[in-house]
Amino acid sequence: MEIRIAQSGVTLPPQNATDGDIFGSRGTRRVPVLLPYPFVGPFDYAASPGLVLAPGDIVLVPLNRRQEVGVVWDAPSGPAVADTKLKPVSARVDAPAMPAPLRRLVDWIASYTLSPPGQVLAMALRVNALVPPPMVAGWRAVPQAGSVRLTPDTNSVRLTPDTNPVRLTPQRQRVLAVLGEKIIPGADLARRADVGSSVIRGMADAGLIEAAPVPAVPPFGRPDPGFREPTFSAAQAAVAAALRALVNAKSFAVTLLDGVTGSGKTEVYLEAVAACLETRRQALVLLPEIALSAQFLARFERRFGVAPALWHSDLGSRTRRATWRAVAEGASQVVVGARSALFLPFPDLGLVIVDEEHETAFKQEDGVVYHARDMAVVRARFSAAPAILVSATPSLETLANVEAGRYAHLRLLSRHGGASMPAIAAIDMRDAPPPRGKFLSPVLVEAVRARFARGEQAMLFLNRRGYAPLTLCRACGHRLACPNCTAWLVEHRARRELSCHHCGHTAPAPTVCPVCAAEGTMAPIGPGVERITEEAAELFPAARRLVMASDTMPGPHAAAEAARAIEAREVDLLIGTQIVAKGWHFPHLTLVGVVDADLGLAGGDLRAAERTVQLLHQVAGRAGRAEAPGEVKLQTFSPEHPVMQALISGDLAAFYAAEKAARRPGHWPPYGRLAALIVSAEHAEAADRCARALGLNAPMAPGVEVLGPTPAPLAVLRGRHRRRLLLKTRRDIAVQPILQAWLAAVVVPRGVRVDVDVDPVSFL
Ligand SMILES: [Zn+2]
Ligand SMILES: [Zn+2]
Repeated sequence: MEIRIAQSGVTLPPQNATDGDIFGSRGTRRVPVLLPYPFVGPFDYAASPGLVLAPGDIVLVPLNRRQEVGVVWDAPSGPAVADTKLKPVSARVDAPAMPAPLRRLVDWIASYTLSPPGQVLAMALRVNALVPPPMVAGWRAVPQAGSVRLTPDTNSVRLTPDTNPVRLTPQRQRVLAVLGEKIIPGADLARRADVGSSVIRGMADAGLIEAAPVPAVPPFGRPDPGFREPTFSAAQAAVAAALRALVNAKSFAVTLLDGVTGSGKTEVYLEAVAACLETRRQALVLLPEIALSAQFLARFERRFGVAPALWHSDLGSRTRRATWRAVAEGASQVVVGARSALFLPFPDLGLVIVDEEHETAFKQEDGVVYHARDMAVVRARFSAAPAILVSATPSLETLANVEAGRYAHLRLLSRHGGASMPAIAAIDMRDAPPPRGKFLSPVLVEAVRARFARGEQAMLFLNRRGYAPLTLCRACGHRLACPNCTAWLVEHRARRELSCHHCGHTAPAPTVCPVCAAEGTMAPIGPGVERITEEAAELFPAARRLVMASDTMPGPHAAAEAARAIEAREVDLLIGTQIVAKGWHFPHLTLVGVVDADLGLAGGDLRAAERTVQLLHQVAGRAGRAEAPGEVKLQTFSPEHPVMQALISGDLAAFYAAEKAARRPGHWPPYGRLAALIVSAEHAEAADRCARALGLNAPMAPGVEVLGPTPAPLAVLRGRHRRRLLLKTRRDIAVQPILQAWLAAVVVPRGVRVDVDVDPVSFL
């Protein structure tokens, strides 16, 4: 093998890094090429005679008798392989080069997360987008025919002076009117002109229209920053002006836009997008769950006249290719996307916005484990662009950065259009318990009835999918567990099955206990959203109900349709899991009932209280967003808990202060750093041995602490036994060099995997 693996020793380059060397011609002969595979770094190749290459160029290179697509990387790895033994680059791919800021991001994420750079590159390089976008057959008006001015009286046209006139029926006139100067795919043309395909064929035969290729995905519209300028309150206008100034400064800065729910944050930050469009740079807006963004997209279109380009996992492959290409060529100016949109090849990114920055959905837990909010900040830095983090309930991490002066802070303190904040109250479940086997307190039931009597809408929130989280045998006490995971099976009654929410294992619901064989003794314990729906149907039989849960609301269309039905008052009672918490604006919804406000507090996770406050505050924010005042009822067994008190009083600042005070002394994030090692193996002993070896070699230094090894809360997941170790350091100590030295000291045997999670969000 002539190809050697280069060492990757990534350090953060300065801002505005130049594009570096030119390879070939009179430049260096040695060309480093990064391939989208988990190798430890780029491979060196030789520049072929006559082929001048620059970093970012996309090339074909030989690897193990195959041709692979890679990206010319920045610096050659040095003389590990003699120049004469290098294999030549086969060709340059005719596609836009990968911009320098994106290459810097790939290196940075690889280094930060301890992932092979090629594995990160695989998220940024869409090989199938490199071929030019697909074309389909379309039609255009033959120029002579198109130039004839059509009037209602035109009924024939002479195409050239010496041919017979061609009859222009009303149908043919419609086709020509729809076509204008455009090229339109055949099926679209027939539909829009409301004619049959025979009319189109006839027109082609008569020489009125001719076939022409047209891109399968229509080009992206240009958002117009002046399309419909909003009217703002003085407070909103001041914040919008500050955001515009940040964009116009064309330099890196991070700003937290912190505003109460319903304060019009979206409209305000769209002004930053408008400013970015005016400077002709590109803008990226990250949303935690793009499938739920129908209302956001409608607002965008109202403001700018066209929809933005979207980027998420549900995109069809044609649209995905066309979008990637349009971004690379600068033809798409605004992208609204999920976390993977960070890796799009924007040549001139002028603004990055992270909406709902506190959301844990921004953390990618599989493959390269990274936090998209934090990496969005890095992306903005490399692009010399401002980053704006938006939330009504910012994360403690972001607040700590504000406190330390690293991030600026802009606030919107009141609701837009005079709406008031909802009144939040606890229902003490010890004083007002529901009937046996039920879950809604009579106090909540009365409150819902009162809203219905006034013709208003109500919502019941429970962050748990399915019918019941646990099924047990009343005769012998046996509980139905997942055979692959340390987890109970969740009953989904509508689907007539039990399912594991960790590995996806499903089984039919048994009628006989699998242990004691008793019949009819299997009983559901606790509620899921399906069970609440059943209870609500008994209590409010006349109410029109709608259930929103991620498993019953699979795609953007379903969510958009649900939102439309709620806005149109075709629904009285909305019942949902956390997807109803996210940014919706339902003007007629005036009551939110939280079925189990204590749910998120169990488990002792570092951020359990913070997350519960964030989620319930978001849910509460759905109530009373228009003229009618809103009301929120929290069903809880501990109304005196600081989380409930913070929600009831609305004094989030006091809660945050208490939470910070609790984390600071022990150097817990954001006042310290964490990294988790997750050891997994098919056999428990193998996992234990490796975890013990890691424990024995644990780093020891002032300000550095290792917790574990311990069995993970999910001790078995997908059939693999898991052990966890947690590295905790002071904030001024980086975890990466410690992790590298630690992992290098331990031999991980075959069949055992050690996953690294820097800044863990999940502790399962
Ligand atoms: Zn039993
Ligand atoms: Zn499972």
